[in-house]
Parts: sequence; structure tokens; C-alpha cells
Amino acid sequence: MELKHVALVIADIGGYTRFIKFHKTTLLHAQEIISQLMETIIDRASFPLMLNKLEGDAALLYAEMGDTETAAARDIVQKVTDFFSAFHAKSGELSGSRANCPCDACQHILDLRLKAVLHHGVVAIKKIRQFEELTGEDVILVHRLLKNSVSKPEYILMSASFHRLAGDLAGYQSEKGEETYADLGSIDTVVFSPSPSVAG
Ligand SMILES: [Zn+2]
Repeated sequence: MELKHVALVIADIGGYTRFIKFHKTTLLHAQEIISQLMETIIDRASFPLMLNKLEGDAALLYAEMGDTETAAARDIVQKVTDFFSAFHAKSGELSGSRANCPCDACQHILDLRLKAVLHHGVVAIKKIRQFEELTGEDVILVHRLLKNSVSKPEYILMSASFHRLAGDLAGYQSEKGEETYADLGSIDTVVFSPSPSVAG
């Protein structure tokens, strides 16, 4: 077991559950589509950002912060913005290649949205064979931050403490917020959403 200061990132694909009638084919195709989109995102996660585990339609990634924390945080944000462009490029490609399938999943690929939550903190890393388990309050917090009051369909949510390292994001609209959790109290956030010209 070792303690490390890391950035924590959750990338979460959503947008299907609200309108889809889950017949057998739809369910299968929805899983295929989300898996392919998730692979596209993970492929963009280059060092030092590493996949820790898949959690349903979300992926937990982390990166060691190293000695230059602000540079590390900015680098991670850049990689996360790359997730969004890769996600949209792949969505467009899948929507075209699956246009002939009448199922709800294939017909609504362009409704899928990506969101990302970024935080940092000291976590305990436990190694069991080739698996690494991350534990600690900040790991709990980054998961809690996925359930938030943000009503925008697509965004990057940073904890205020991550934002202090990373700074603002060019080309995005930002909004300060606050989330309250029974066990963790109030957490200040900054939410970045694509400006209309960037969305797509
Ligand atoms: Zn289909």
C-alpha cells in the first residue's frame, strides 16, 4: 500500500436511458456502442493518465501529480478535452455506420453525451496482482461529484481545488457551483461547458 498525490478523472457516457425502450437488440447494440465509445476515450488516455477501472458506462482514470502540479493538472485537462473531440468523432462515425439498423440505440447515437469530473488528492493505492485499487476520501468525492446539480448535457466539472491548479479552459464557458453531500459536506466546483461554436 502506498500513498500518492494523484489527479482523479471520471469520464461518464450518458444519454440513452431516458428515451430508449430496451428490447434485446437495442440493449445489445447500446452496449456495443458504449463499449466502442469508451475504447475511443481510453485510447486517448496517454501517460501519465491511466485507466484504473471501468464502472458501467464510466471510466475511472488517474495520474500521479509529480513535482509540477499546475503543469500536470493542465496536461490532464488537455487530455480530457481530447476525450470530447474523440468521443464526438466516433459518435458521428458510428451513427453513419449503424444508420441502417432501426433499433433505438443505433438511431440515437448522436444523443449520447460525455461528461467528465476532475479532482485531486492523496489516495492509497493497493496493488493486488495486476490490479490497482484506489481508496480514500478523495476517491469517494470524485464519484459523488458525478451526481450533481448541473443541468447541462455535456460538461467538465472540476472541484475548486483542482481548478486552482489547472486554471480556466479556453473556448469553454465556466460557471462556479457548489454541491452538498450528506457525508462530505459542501464542495465548491467550477463547471466548464462547450461554447456554442465548440459544441458538436
Ligand atoms: Zn441497432
